Amino acid sequence: MKCEYCFTRAGRAGPEDIAARIPELTPLRNAKVALFGLGCLGAPAAIELAKAGVAELGILDHDTVDPGTIVRWPRGLTISGRFKTEVIKEWIIHEFPYCKIKDWPSKLGGIRNPDDRNKLPDEQIVEDMTQDANLIFDATAEPGVHNYLAYHARKLGIPYVGMSVTPGGWGGRVFRIKNDDSQSGCYWCYLKWSKEDKIIEPPFDPNGSLQTAGCGDTTFTGTGFDMLDIAMMGVRVVVSTLCENHEVGYPRMNWDVTHISFRNEQGELLPPVYMPHSLPVHPECPICNLK
Ligand SMILES: [Zn+2]
Repeated sequence: MKCEYCFTRAGRAGPEDIAARIPELTPLRNAKVALFGLGCLGAPAAIELAKAGVAELGILDHDTVDPGTIVRWPRGLTISGRFKTEVIKEWIIHEFPYCKIKDWPSKLGGIRNPDDRNKLPDEQIVEDMTQDANLIFDATAEPGVHNYLAYHARKLGIPYVGMSVTPGGWGGRVFRIKNDDSQSGCYWCYLKWSKEDKIIEPPFDPNGSLQTAGCGDTTFTGTGFDMLDIAMMGVRVVVSTLCENHEVGYPRMNWDVTHISFRNEQGELLPPVYMPHSLPVHPECPICNLK
């Protein structure tokens, strides 16, 4: 006999119901993050930020999903060939609709391709993306872009968080530049302290750089699960920074740079080592010491 009625269990999905398990993340519900780069670090970070309850997310990446990269990307073969921004945007709209998302399928610092969907100049894209943003999150792993965005954040007076992995995925870096009155240094200071070995560099595989067939850019070897640890440390830093001036929030960090090692210099596996460093102004910094 065919049943004409059925009972469906109702689920609670209001903003308060969804946030009940994460009271420390309440400040994120008014936060806007501009996230640059949706590779193996930026893509999982975007999803995690939306999941955590960030109100608004701007995402930028010029690339499409290459089938060879799915070994360390959140989605697999069914989305290969599609724009990374489009896939992440679609996912967030469907799965975490409380996060407002806007995408820029564009490249910073590259030659503008005539069929590029976004024809705005770089400066305009960055201006648009960071308008009213509370933080710039840079997962491009491109030192030139780190430099540009870190100084753009300084100009806006908002914090900047960058992250990258080392070749081979042997370790990684998450670095924060606060751009407030806390006397912390800038990107120049970070590079200088690292060069002087005051901030210890994470290990890398000397044979870990790679140019794959059919790809114009160099990449590196390394596992998806090791990179996820770096991406999640980046998210932790972003969340802590956004909650910093709120009475109730995720705890504040008393350091700015986290260098992470999964291996020693010989490539032998270690229990993950998280090395925290503060980032004071370097006495020779031409930017921080500018009168
Ligand atoms: Zn400086």
